[in-house]
Amino acid sequence: MVDLLKDAKYIKGVGPNRVKQLNKLGIYTLEDVITYYPRGYEDRGKAKLIAELVDGEEALIEVTCVSKMSEIKIRKNMTIYKLIVRDESATCTLTWFNSFYLKNKFKIGEKYKFFGKVKRRINQIEMMSPVFDEESTNKNTGKIIPIYSSTYELSQNILRGIIENGLKEVGNELTESLPQYLLEQYGIIDANTAIHQIHFPNNFNTYEKARKRLVFEELLIMQLALLNLKERYSKNEKGIVFSEKVKVSEVIDSLPFKLTNAQKRVLEEIEQDMESNKMMNRLLQGDVGSGKTAVAICAAYKAVKSKYQVAIMVPTAILAKQHYENFKNMLSQFDINCELLISGIAKKQRTEILDNLKSGKTNIIVGTHALLEDEVEFKNLGLVVTDEQHRFGVRQRGILNSKGLNPDVLVMSATPIPRTLALILYGDLDISIIDELPPNRQKIDTFAVTSSKENRVNNFIREQIKEGRQIYVVCPLVEESEEINAKSVTEIFEKYKNEIFKEFNVEYIHGKLKPKEKEEIMQNFKNKKIDILISTTVIEVGVDVPNASVMVIENAERFGLATLHQLRGRVGRGQYKSYCILKYKGNGEQTRERMKIMVETNDGFKISEKDLEMRGSGEFFGTKQHGLPEFKIANLFEDMQILKQVQSVAIKILQEDSNLELEKNKILKRTINKKFKERVEI
Ligand code: ADP
Ligand code: MG
Repeated sequence: MVDLLKDAKYIKGVGPNRVKQLNKLGIYTLEDVITYYPRGYEDRGKAKLIAELVDGEEALIEVTCVSKMSEIKIRKNMTIYKLIVRDESATCTLTWFNSFYLKNKFKIGEKYKFFGKVKRRINQIEMMSPVFDEESTNKNTGKIIPIYSSTYELSQNILRGIIENGLKEVGNELTESLPQYLLEQYGIIDANTAIHQIHFPNNFNTYEKARKRLVFEELLIMQLALLNLKERYSKNEKGIVFSEKVKVSEVIDSLPFKLTNAQKRVLEEIEQDMESNKMMNRLLQGDVGSGKTAVAICAAYKAVKSKYQVAIMVPTAILAKQHYENFKNMLSQFDINCELLISGIAKKQRTEILDNLKSGKTNIIVGTHALLEDEVEFKNLGLVVTDEQHRFGVRQRGILNSKGLNPDVLVMSATPIPRTLALILYGDLDISIIDELPPNRQKIDTFAVTSSKENRVNNFIREQIKEGRQIYVVCPLVEESEEINAKSVTEIFEKYKNEIFKEFNVEYIHGKLKPKEKEEIMQNFKNKKIDILISTTVIEVGVDVPNASVMVIENAERFGLATLHQLRGRVGRGQYKSYCILKYKGNGEQTRERMKIMVETNDGFKISEKDLEMRGSGEFFGTKQHGLPEFKIANLFEDMQILKQVQSVAIKILQEDSNLELEKNKILKRTINKKFKERVEI
């Protein structure tokens, strides 16, 4: 059997230097090598006639050499080599630069195959720096060639060679990771064929089959793991039954606004879960500003009035504080005690907070990761709410849950994803969606600008401040770094404070500051003591400053659309007309397209669909954002059909065999365990 965990450095063609380059691509083992899938392919399989070549395309020609290689030295270090070839349709000039080793390579009258980029002019057809093979060989041409994401130091040829060697070592010795009956039932090819064909397909048909197999496996395994988790929650664990008699209408009536229909609907769904003996495990999705907090306040009220405690966990101290204020303002009139727990609180005060929590005097605790610490104990924790859940791993949620006895769980997320996907991706959670914004929300006008508009933007900022508004400026980096292409918080701060906006109060904030400092700055911003606040994405999450009317984003091209949308949601929270200014660099088609989407739409769901479409799921659903493993090959947008199929397959399998204990399914269990290791364990 092959040892897939073997260090990549032992693969033929990999030395100490190469292994470092491979590591940069995230490749450490033989398994990593063979699962480093191509990002694209070049069809060097089918030859074209010279007369048919089109300017700009890459193509293969099968030709006879009709000239000697000519050598033209145009300057020191630059020699051009030209060769003339022909087929039955026309002649073609082949051009190379500095390729002295090719000088005597080709013989007049012999046949060769060339593959390269075509340059077609009225009177001449040329091919630039083509790769080639002799008539009967197939090393560089004559087949479908995989193209890999690589770095400058590691050329396609070398990387391709390493992967080829890795595959040779594996041979046909891969252990099958899916049961035979699934392969047969769904017409899926075996693991060994798939791994070879995905890299070096015989033709596009075998490539399709290989890809389908690998996508199917990747999605099925994830799906089974998630559904299995859900099953565990709902089956084994009896949840708390919160009192039907507690009506949330009391809180609703005291809110300063009328709930939207969407808010009412999700609240009903939540109440139903709470009143049943099933453990609630629900995801509440809603665009920024859709009013998730109000829903959480109502749910918390119901829990407390049913004599349970509530924990609200959020990712930053700033947000914790804001939520704490909100909960306190809304709920203290009902004789409900709220407390705040973040790190950096004085010892004496902290002890008091913890004591009150343990004795049950505190009904609701709002906090950050600090809530996860061992000393935090509850009298009877009944409801756990986590906000902006993509910042917390599944495991962290688990720790908090375990401080109560099967508390109900509500996870709130402002990252809208298309519903079909949500159902599948959050297979372990039930889902409620707020798909409506409160009325009278103004559209945030969005502009995408390049540096040529710098002055106009600055004048606009000045006017807004003079009208009494405040400004956010977001940069991708904290400090200046070797990354010359991105603006940093400190750089912009210096420039604004000392040059452009001397007359205003400019301040900055970023994640590396102490919690106390951050809090003070946010408080000053809320109290209008700061006109322009420069920051990293720390303010991304949920901060509410209604007087802020302009969001400027530097190097907008560096952020994902979902993040841009989140950032934009920081303004337009009050009565004032609000704006988002995306400063971007570069003229790539992708960048312009992305900016255009942001300018044209304010709908988070649409934006996330686009984001998904453009970036593929790899980044969008990366581990960082969602706590899920990254996909190596599946693209949730393109592979929607397979995804749907896989979901029904997974449900069917688990209906018959919920713990995957049948002989025929053992192989699946093994594959899941191998893939997720400890990652999904609660
Ligand atoms: P998010 O869903 O992003 O967490 P919030 O709960 O912070 O949104 O709500 C954003 C703002 O909208 C808050 O100032 C809140 O008071 C207000 N809000 C919430 N629901 C409504 C509503 N139904 N009508 C009007 N304003 C609302
Ligand atoms: Mg929020």
